[in-house]
Amino acid sequence: KVRVRFAPSPTGPLHIGGLRTALFNYLFAKKNGGDFLLRIEDTDQNRYVEGAEEYIVQALNWCAIPFDEGPGKEGAYGPYRQSERKNLYEAYALELIEKGKAYYAFDSSESLDNHRKDHEAKGKTFIYNWHNRLKLANSLSLSKEEVQKKLDAGHEYVIRFKSPENEQLLLNDIIRGEIKIDTNILDDKVLFKSDGMPTYHLANIVDDHLMKITHVIRGEEWLPSLALHQLLYDAFGWKAPQFAHLPLIMKPVGKGKLSKRDGEKGGFPVFPLSWNESQGYREAGFFPEAVVNFLALLGWNPGTEQEIFTLEELVQSFSLERVNKSGARFDPEKNKWYNQQWMQLKSDAELAEMFSKELTKQLGEKAESFNTDYVTKVVSLIKERASFVPELWALGNYFFESPSTYDEKAVSKQWKEDTPEIMEAVVGILENIENFDSATAEAKVKEWISEKELSFGKVMPPLRLVIVGEMKGPHLFDIMELIGKEESIHRIKKAVS
Ligand code: GLU
Repeated sequence: KVRVRFAPSPTGPLHIGGLRTALFNYLFAKKNGGDFLLRIEDTDQNRYVEGAEEYIVQALNWCAIPFDEGPGKEGAYGPYRQSERKNLYEAYALELIEKGKAYYAFDSSESLDNHRKDHEAKGKTFIYNWHNRLKLANSLSLSKEEVQKKLDAGHEYVIRFKSPENEQLLLNDIIRGEIKIDTNILDDKVLFKSDGMPTYHLANIVDDHLMKITHVIRGEEWLPSLALHQLLYDAFGWKAPQFAHLPLIMKPVGKGKLSKRDGEKGGFPVFPLSWNESQGYREAGFFPEAVVNFLALLGWNPGTEQEIFTLEELVQSFSLERVNKSGARFDPEKNKWYNQQWMQLKSDAELAEMFSKELTKQLGEKAESFNTDYVTKVVSLIKERASFVPELWALGNYFFESPSTYDEKAVSKQWKEDTPEIMEAVVGILENIENFDSATAEAKVKEWISEKELSFGKVMPPLRLVIVGEMKGPHLFDIMELIGKEESIHRIKKAVS
């Protein structure tokens, strides 16, 4: 059975790259009838951020990509927080020492710093591995007695992996194919520290093994760790999962990967971690469906022209074989387009409910005087032009209050000497309409225009200007029907008085 995991470290709010990793894991699991696990990799206490784990869970829920096993959803392989698994890692580190695949190292950080500086001075980089490990303070260079003495005395140590010398490794990645690595360039990574904590590498491998993970799908930034991970599986004599490293998400313009500093251009988090942080995708008005949709197409393509996908459709179409090797450029404009498309797919009632919150923000108590039916009708008239719900206010504020100013350019262009007189005549026509609806009002006004042999240009643009305040908006008579006869007349009168 396919089992995959999303294994974030709780070090802050989730960014779009992390969310994409979670999504691809989810899609792959569901496509293959497998399990999607959430594992919290919190072994690095220094980088732990309060609330980050809860946040990750909320972000996955927001996107509707729930995990099958994880914190709070215990399955057969828990606990799913590495800090709660703390006690099981040491035995594995010791097993590797036993097998001659790892060793104790006692070098102080000061001595390692000095080695680094010496190398730098010679224009070299210091790598702790086969070529110098016998010159350093570890259980390979020291006698058994010395080592035991240090351990008994409670001397600080780390356990390092003994990376092999002169081996050509052939690694396999589903997305990248075969990768050849010369083990001579690998350093002897720390697996375990005397504070009782494993490092990422050890904990990650042990847990993937114990949790029966079949496929490791993660960001490209972990590709350099692949050799070590493969070597660790081999050292334990375990079958390694299959690996798939997802392409980086690149900045909208220029070089490099998308980062937090790209803020509004997509670098911001899914939503803020706490109330005092700047906004995220949710706050900007993105629909989770749109975020899922655009994330899926960041690095993956369906091989067809289809762009709009529901989560269900993504599950059906997804395959790791169609994930690209090269970086995926993040395009904020395109993402907006996705949101706009998803907005049109929402029902007017659903949008109206969301828009109500914005109305309360804008109008305070006055917002309550507009019933759901009214707001829904407004939404149906203006949503086409909007990419985000909060934009509905700028697009349709005149449905809720009469214009307090008029667009100056439009005024100088449309407002002629005889305009007030014409507008007053329009008031007369509107007053005489009993069943005030869009079609009737339009017919009556147009009838009158041709009777008087006026041009549309003399009537319609200034009429729009007094009703809306500017030259924008949907069909004018639809607007007038909605705001009603009285309000329409009131607005015209106000403008000519
Ligand atoms: N804890 C790692 C991270 O923060 C997990 C990497 C992996 O998936 O192996 O991304």
